[in-house]
Amino acid sequence: MAKSSGPFGRDLKLSSTPELSQSQEHAGRHRSAGTSSVRGKVREFRASSSIPAALSWEEFARQSILAAESSRLNPFSLHPEEYKMLRDHITHAQVTIYLNIRNGILRLWTRNPLVHVTIEEAVGCAREKRYFSLAKVAYHWLMRNGYINFGCVEVSNTAGPIPRVKAKGGPRRTVLVLGAGMSGLGCARHLEGLFAQLGGQWTEQGERPPKVIVLEARPRVGGRVYSHPLRNQSQSTIPAGHRNTAEMGAQIVTGYEHGNPMNAIVRGQLGIPYHGLRDNTILYDHDGSKVERSQDILVEKLYNDILERASVYRHKSATFRVVEGDRNLILFGRDPSDTGGATIATLENSNTPLPASASTTASTTEEKPSTGVEKLAGRAYQLSAGFNPNIPAAEAVTTMGWQLRSGASNSQSLQLDTIAKSSPYPTLGETMDNGISQYQAILDLKPKDLRLLNWHHANLEYANAVSVNQLSLSGWDQDIGNEFEGEHSEIIGGYQQVPRGLWQCPGKLDVHFKSVVKSIRYNPQDNSKGKAVKVECTNGEVFEADQIVITTPLGVLKSGSIRFEPPLPEWKQGVIERMGFGLLNKVILVYEEAFWEPDRDMFGLLNEAEHQMSLDQSDYATRRGRFYLFWNCIKTSGRPMLVALMAGEAAHFAEATPDGQLIKEVTGRLATMFAPNPVPLPSETIVTRWKKDPFACGSYSYVGAKTQAGDYDVMARPHGPLHFAGEATCGTHPATVHGAYLSGLRAAAEVVESMIGPIKIPSPLVEKRIKLELSITPVIMESKRKLGPEISQLDSRTAEQLREEDYEASIIGAILNEIGERPIKPGRAGVNPFLLYTKDNWYKCKADCDAARKVTTGDANAKASKTEIRAALGLMWRTASPDIKKPYLDQTQNARDGAAANAANFKERVATWDREATRIRQEYIQTHPPPNGNENMMNSRTAIELGTGKRLRRLGA
Ligand SMILES: Cc1cc2nc3c(=O)[nH]c(=O)nc-3n(C[C@H](O)[C@H](O)[C@H](O)COP(=O)(O)OP(=O)(O)OC[C@H]3O[C@@H](n4cnc5c(N)ncnc54)[C@H](O)[C@@H]3O)c2cc1C
Repeated sequence: MAKSSGPFGRDLKLSSTPELSQSQEHAGRHRSAGTSSVRGKVREFRASSSIPAALSWEEFARQSILAAESSRLNPFSLHPEEYKMLRDHITHAQVTIYLNIRNGILRLWTRNPLVHVTIEEAVGCAREKRYFSLAKVAYHWLMRNGYINFGCVEVSNTAGPIPRVKAKGGPRRTVLVLGAGMSGLGCARHLEGLFAQLGGQWTEQGERPPKVIVLEARPRVGGRVYSHPLRNQSQSTIPAGHRNTAEMGAQIVTGYEHGNPMNAIVRGQLGIPYHGLRDNTILYDHDGSKVERSQDILVEKLYNDILERASVYRHKSATFRVVEGDRNLILFGRDPSDTGGATIATLENSNTPLPASASTTASTTEEKPSTGVEKLAGRAYQLSAGFNPNIPAAEAVTTMGWQLRSGASNSQSLQLDTIAKSSPYPTLGETMDNGISQYQAILDLKPKDLRLLNWHHANLEYANAVSVNQLSLSGWDQDIGNEFEGEHSEIIGGYQQVPRGLWQCPGKLDVHFKSVVKSIRYNPQDNSKGKAVKVECTNGEVFEADQIVITTPLGVLKSGSIRFEPPLPEWKQGVIERMGFGLLNKVILVYEEAFWEPDRDMFGLLNEAEHQMSLDQSDYATRRGRFYLFWNCIKTSGRPMLVALMAGEAAHFAEATPDGQLIKEVTGRLATMFAPNPVPLPSETIVTRWKKDPFACGSYSYVGAKTQAGDYDVMARPHGPLHFAGEATCGTHPATVHGAYLSGLRAAAEVVESMIGPIKIPSPLVEKRIKLELSITPVIMESKRKLGPEISQLDSRTAEQLREEDYEASIIGAILNEIGERPIKPGRAGVNPFLLYTKDNWYKCKADCDAARKVTTGDANAKASKTEIRAALGLMWRTASPDIKKPYLDQTQNARDGAAANAANFKERVATWDREATRIRQEYIQTHPPPNGNENMMNSRTAIELGTGKRLRRLGA
């Protein structure tokens, strides 16, 4: 089913056309009365003006927490960089206040990434005036680091006028970005945004904000995101307005939820349709027979067991210092009472025990969770957190359903220590293969079992672009725990629409195409007069700049095709050599008609060993990745198309083998699989050869045996005016489109910091509260009320009420810890065919209306009003032929069907959650009796358990 809108709720769906870009929420009432908070118009800071009055605090907190989670930030603790920035300035109690503000700002952004968040709105997330500076710091931190106001969004410009003389001849800094792939475009777009939003900082010094120039070797944007247009564009299986294309490089979006920045760009800003993939792979054996599901599952379990046993040798992930806020208060959207005190740094430096009240806000360290393996492929390998390697292998496989060999005992196990410690650079492949052969002593594995096990190896070789025999045993999955959630998907009409969007929206970036950089001369010291970087291209162009962001693939850096003068220092050159850059290739087959099941998104193919029916693992390595997986791209490419993957050693085979031979082989394989149906020769074929491509020199990075822990971060580290971005600099999400994009955001923040320094923190950051709590007299109460709703609200509650609320908060904490959030009611389909049509045609119609307006007014700068454009679009829609309307009507119907299915599923999940919540509440109350012995609490439910928005309220049984 094609989808075109994201999870942005009401606001976005209604505002996904340019003319409706103001957040709907802003028209609503906010907590502070009398605010007319329309984005971009408010000039005054008003406490709580961005906290909608119609929402209960719990609901507001829930949305803010979700927003932080969708931004890869922990809603309950400071990011290590926030910690560094704030530790000298705030107290433990203020951490919670900061987090409430920061999460609230993220809420504004994630609800509608079509519109940038303004400083006024951000400050409106603070509930008292004295936290305005704290809110400004949060805003700047989020903005600079690309957590808000990123992607294809128009931002405000704070650059002021500068004297003419200076404007003409005065200094203007230049940033060069080398490469127009996802990282380069992401970086350049974010730099442009930051130079506009922070423009005042330059103009106040009499300088124009810096300019950004992108140099790209190819005649197109996207780099390794390349949707190759097909020859046949006249017939199409995808909605009108999309090109028929084949994905030469990136193809899969690995889930939009839980922090993928592509969520905001693809779904929130560009509104590109995508196709959700179903995990319904079936496997064909080499002779064309289908592998029975039971055998497939059994072998997959065995494979996972060996992978888990090898994971014991995984390098322990680094821990870092974080400071947590008060989880219960954050869950309820409440700020703690803030009576000042020592800053975090003072307490930490003095080694004084933390105050009792700060027990939940103690500094702590956080370990990355280890739950899964990032995958681009059809199957994930979930490493269970609770895997126990001490359970003997024989016992484990018996539990899975395997029969032991006669003579094997239940206590037999694997001994991987010898192989894992036999070399200074052990690999995953050698260790697992050793595990497989040890299993052969316990189990009577047949050649078909080995073919299946090797299919899984091929799948890992796809995800890592290299043979498992070259992957580091301790670090191959160093990015574990950072996976996104949600179904995997493919972009309808081509992934390249995303880099194209970044290039063109909201205004075109200055990209110089066919500019192949051959040398970078730079001054590593910061003492240069004039420009510190001089870049020369093979076409003779020369560019000078103050800073350069290098995003060329690691393969290009390894190849030495770009000369650095002076040469890169040893620490940088060393890491370039140590890190792995692998290969994956594709054989793309376009047909006139599908001879496969058009609704199946992928199917796998097992390969025979070099020596038929071999029981020796090493005989499978060269062939296991040949055409091992076929993607059926009929729903996204526009034509009946299969994309066969060549992974591991087979990727190199594809590189060296002529097209004709590959097509002949794959056609033979398909004919065996689909016999007796005839399999024709494809009408168009494309074979990728990423290694031969001089601007890629391979496909993506991997953690090789000699790669050291932390090498991705060393790759990212700047050297003088040289900054580095690209997927191989993103240790948390390497080898992916989103990782490349995130690295671009990171580099943009670094460049800005190197130009204007870190975020300035005013002193004091939080002004002292006027001590009003000490004796509450009617007179003081009166003056407190004037201070804002939050203070008077807190004080009007009795001590008993506060205790009850705290107790309720602990119950909720126990519930959330055990079963997580109550399932969120899925939004209504909210898709309207006219809105979809408007989104596709707005810019074209606007251009036509502008042109007509110019003619009628005779003014070359005349622009049509939004009302005119809307009216013209309305007319176009009403008079459009059924053929034009059909895809929009279909998409709407699909969205409605999907919403109906989601609603049914929600009902079931929510009933289970409610039952469990009641049980946990009752158990909690039995083990921790309520302070006032209030029995009614046993059967009551708070708003969070009711999933309602109303303020903490309790229902009797
Ligand atoms: C076959 C394949 C399949 C993939 N599948 C997926 C997938 O399904 N999902 C996913 O998330 N990711 C996938 N990836 C990975 C993803 O495509 C990359 O991680 C990401 O696109 C890298 O972006 P980048 O900006 O770091 O590099 P690039 O996109 O390579 O950008 C670097 C740019 O630098 C330019 N350049 C190089 N040399 C020079 C020079 N000398 N002068 C000027 N410019 C130069 C290049 O032309 C290029 O445009 C796949 C990649 C490949 C190859």
